[in-house]
Amino acid sequence: MPSYTAPVNDIQFVLHALLKASAQDIPGYDELEADFTAAVLEEAGKIAGNVLAPLNAVGDAEGCVLENGVVRTPSGFKDAFEQMKQGGWTALDCDPEYGGQGMPVLLGTAVGELFSGANQAFTMYQGLTHGAYSAIHAHGTDAQKAKWLPKMVSCEWTGTMNLTEPHCGTDLGLMRTKAVPQEDGSYRISGQKIFISAGDHDMSENVVHLVLAKIPGGPEGIKGVSLFIVPKFLVDDEGNIGARNGVSVGKLEEKMGIHGNSTCVMNYDEAEGYLLGQEHKGMRAMFTMMNEARLGVAMQGMAQAEAAYQNAVIYAKDRLQGRAVTGAENPDGPADPLIVHPDIRRNLLDQKSFVEGARAFMLWGAYLLDKSHRSGDAEAEGLISLLTPVLKGFLTDRGLDMTVQAQQVYGGHGYIEEWGMSQFVRDARITQIYEGANGVQALDLVGRKLAADGGKHVMGFFELVKGFIKENEGDEALKKDFLEPLKSASKDLQAAGMFFMQNGMKNPNAALAGSYDFMHLFGHVCLGLMWARMAKAATEALASGEGNASFYETKLATGRYYMARQLPATKMHLARIESGAAPVMDLAAEAF
Ligand SMILES: Cc1cc2nc3c(=O)[nH]c(=O)nc-3n(C[C@H](O)[C@H](O)[C@H](O)COP(=O)(O)OP(=O)(O)OC[C@H]3O[C@@H](n4cnc5c(N)ncnc54)[C@H](O)[C@@H]3O)c2cc1C
Repeated sequence: MPSYTAPVNDIQFVLHALLKASAQDIPGYDELEADFTAAVLEEAGKIAGNVLAPLNAVGDAEGCVLENGVVRTPSGFKDAFEQMKQGGWTALDCDPEYGGQGMPVLLGTAVGELFSGANQAFTMYQGLTHGAYSAIHAHGTDAQKAKWLPKMVSCEWTGTMNLTEPHCGTDLGLMRTKAVPQEDGSYRISGQKIFISAGDHDMSENVVHLVLAKIPGGPEGIKGVSLFIVPKFLVDDEGNIGARNGVSVGKLEEKMGIHGNSTCVMNYDEAEGYLLGQEHKGMRAMFTMMNEARLGVAMQGMAQAEAAYQNAVIYAKDRLQGRAVTGAENPDGPADPLIVHPDIRRNLLDQKSFVEGARAFMLWGAYLLDKSHRSGDAEAEGLISLLTPVLKGFLTDRGLDMTVQAQQVYGGHGYIEEWGMSQFVRDARITQIYEGANGVQALDLVGRKLAADGGKHVMGFFELVKGFIKENEGDEALKKDFLEPLKSASKDLQAAGMFFMQNGMKNPNAALAGSYDFMHLFGHVCLGLMWARMAKAATEALASGEGNASFYETKLATGRYYMARQLPATKMHLARIESGAAPVMDLAAEAF
């Protein structure tokens, strides 16, 4: 069975050497001293490695079961959830006013990677609750917040997000679920939602569903959608649980992965619901928490890649096959370990350089979210809004690719369930789909985010890259291995943006045909920037003579690999983008 070890040193490197967290002028960041974050990560790592990881395969094999209208989670999930609650982990980055610990999203994301890497299906119960918590926190009245949030912070009550219906997932304007106003100010919600993660289970007293629905007589399409709080059990003003609401589980979906998470068809039959935020402004309410939710899915993608990589390394050092072409490296054994072979090393370095770069990108994204929310920094808000589809699309696509590469290291054994590598692939696959399928992320990036505020944020990103290169040009080693490749990749990104500007207006298909490549091109430039910045941090740490020199040298070598072997992908993406609409659009639909 696969194992999981919390990559505490790598996370600490990003938090402190790269982001210099405790020195940042953001409320709450002064608490993020290296000793403190190390202690938190070590503790979280123990739960991840000792409690959650052993349940990963159990959840996969057993799945969830619907019994008498109630979902039963796999063996051990309930106890583990209790440990998470008792340890206060569900409250880590929640508002202290409602029982949270008030830690920044940065620390919440770092810890989230450990839990998710150890057991994605399990961690989703808390993740969905956090999403619903954030929406109520941002849009609820004081009375709603006081009523729902404390129990959601502690996860005594969990939460869900109900958007999808059988006939609409991306195009939510087609939604049919309706909400009829009542004289007492509540609404009666009727309709069906599908694919609802953590829709029901046996680990909490109540489930607080956030449901998108249309109030009859409201505007057509997406402009007529409102958001409602619809609990499984009604709750009185003193917070006591009362009668069962008109919400039921129609069925549990059988699916490719994340078997330990219940994916439910939810039926709403005149269920009592309460408007959250303003009438017809449901999508706006959802969007305010979208950046955080999408960062969470990006994190899942990279976390599965990390977990799969760890196991691939163990296998590559253990499995004896063939001899090194340059002479036996294990002469006393029947063969050399896989890791001597250049192609296996290529495979592992693809994974290692992706995972470490992706982690830096993800934590930088969390830092930008904190800067925007806690410091009200408009520039950070614009930048994270631009980068969110890149984080979600690129980290989950490449994250999945890396789980496949890790599986490949195992040869045929990777395909056999007993080894557990197939679960990483199956679990990672959903990250490309939910929270907005990746094609739609690319559409959002090119169709909306690029031109937002007159292109100010993408220009800001280019300035940031340019500024970093200029500032560090005096360092010859950094220049050759990191700054020059970054400059070249960044030029590719600018050229792609220019192509869209020159062609997109007269032919929108020219921009949209290249949107997916643009998302990946952008993702590579972001990882290139992260590696250049990490290389600088590692060089400085080496020069200081403090810490573990081989850790920093490894960082530099891994970064050089990314710059030399992965970053050139920007050229291919640019070529595809510049081929325009014709190769994609010329074929008539009936020719497919
Ligand atoms: C396991 C699982 C858990 C889920 N959890 C939840 C949950 O908790 N809550 C919830 O509300 N939903 C959830 N979902 C639903 C998920 O978010 C949707 O499946 C997803 O948003 C895509 O919607 P769809 O399936 O209707 O696909 P469609 O919208 O039909 O899209 C199909 C394909 O077409 C592409 N596409 C669509 N429109 C365009 C366009 N204009 N241009 C280019 N390409 C386009 C999409 O990228 C996609 O690849 C879950 C789904 C699964 C499988």
